[in-house]
Amino acid sequence: MTRLKGKRAFITAAGQGIGRAIAEAYVAEGAEVYATDLNKDLLTGLSGADCSALDVTDKSALQGAVSEAAPDILVNCAGFVHAGSILEATDEELDFALNLNVRAMFHSIQAAIPGMLERGQGAIVNIASVASSILAAPNRFIYGTTKAAVIGLTKSVAVDFVTNNIRCNAICPGTVDSPSLHNRLRATGDYEAALEAFIARQPMGRIGRAEEIAALAVYLGSEESAFTTGQTHIVDGGWANG
Ligand code: NAD
Repeated sequence: MTRLKGKRAFITAAGQGIGRAIAEAYVAEGAEVYATDLNKDLLTGLSGADCSALDVTDKSALQGAVSEAAPDILVNCAGFVHAGSILEATDEELDFALNLNVRAMFHSIQAAIPGMLERGQGAIVNIASVASSILAAPNRFIYGTTKAAVIGLTKSVAVDFVTNNIRCNAICPGTVDSPSLHNRLRATGDYEAALEAFIARQPMGRIGRAEEIAALAVYLGSEESAFTTGQTHIVDGGWANG
């Protein structure tokens, strides 16, 4: 398939989960892919992509890598789920999540847009969540706060560059099978009960697959979505419709 042929794509957190599925789908669709992750070992086996270690909270490393790659498509996938209500949240935990989930997108987009302006085109895809300004998930105070910020950031970038052929969209997944999801389930102390509860809140009766998010990321990175910007694209098995 060649929906992304001729496009250069830069992807953060491509080592596992949704980021990995997006990187694999982008390679399959013919993009030239720069796949990055905090843990370079996780990128092993991602064939067809240029793989490198990158901590998105390191502003100069992130901006240097994005500027050098000069991507037509920027996929901001790095993010962290903090568990707990407002009463369990500390300033340090909020700072950590804001830096990783929000500030890193601010920095990567800031580095990507000048090149996109020069080339007269660009597509930015930010991975937010339905747990944001769309719906409230229990014990996700910090997470929901940061992912709502991602939606605001996305809309702001979209409106400022709408006449420059630079589009910016957010994908808002529901619960998706990924390595960190299993860690979160284990951290509850009762993996099976937690998994059952996560599935129970899904009207479709199942959690999502990373490939189902990647399919939308391909669309939003490609010319097929040329008339779409500033939107929150929900892929959640009907959770937000319940
Ligand atoms: P994951 O959490 O299993 O993997 C995260 C990846 O991010 C890892 O490869 C890790 O090494 C990398 N990473 C962590 N810190 C980093 C940093 N500082 N710099 C660069 N990379 C870093 O993957 P996932 O669950 O698919 O989540 C990916 C994104 O999707 C996140 O933004 C998450 O919030 C969002 N999301 C996930 C779900 C879900 O249910 N899995 C739902 C909605 C949104």
